[in-house]
Amino acid sequence: MRGYSNRVTLLPTDDAGDPDTRERLTALGINLAASPPVDLRPEQDGIVVELRSGERLRFDVLYPVLGCDVRSDLATTLGARCNDVGCVVVDDKQRTTVANIYAAGDVVSDLHQLSVAAGHAAIAATAIHKSLPNNFRG
Ligand SMILES: Cc1cc2nc3c(=O)[nH]c(=O)nc-3n(C[C@H](O)[C@H](O)[C@H](O)COP(=O)(O)OP(=O)(O)OC[C@H]3O[C@@H](n4cnc5c(N)ncnc54)[C@H](O)[C@@H]3O)c2cc1C
Repeated sequence: MRGYSNRVTLLPTDDAGDPDTRERLTALGINLAASPPVDLRPEQDGIVVELRSGERLRFDVLYPVLGCDVRSDLATTLGARCNDVGCVVVDDKQRTTVANIYAAGDVVSDLHQLSVAAGHAAIAATAIHKSLPNNFRG
């Protein structure tokens, strides 16, 4: 975010961060709001955020930091190996460590983009097609 603006504020989900986090944010030139937001309202000239402390801050843009959980339970139940963050391990053909099971998209990569998922799917589909027996017509 600091690459886009020199006025960035982090709105904490709980009371202001630990001293180490504060120090790192300060070093990066990022403000840390003193308390969590309790209300937000779009207004004509921006978004007004009210903090639990009663302070009101005005922003041009709010960007939600969602985080993510990898939903690879189905693959692991079937025996597929995952890495330490839970992504399914695949080879360059999108094959998991379990024969005939392929995986693609967010569940295998932390680059979460539609084009990446579609690319993985194309690679997997081609590999599956090539793995099938020839079906010559008589
Ligand atoms: C808020 C948001 C904004 C985004 N904006 C963009 C953007 O602008 N551009 C972009 O390229 N990407 C964007 N992405 C990322 C993009 O949506 C994902 O990278 C993409 O959808 C990944 O596709 P996928 O098929 O791997 O996973 P998903 O689209 O998540 O599909 C997985 C499906 O599997 C289902 N599923 C999970 N577990 C099971 C199970 N056990 N049994 C049956 N079904 C199951 C889920 O319900 C889901 O329908 C955004 C993502 C979010 C959350």
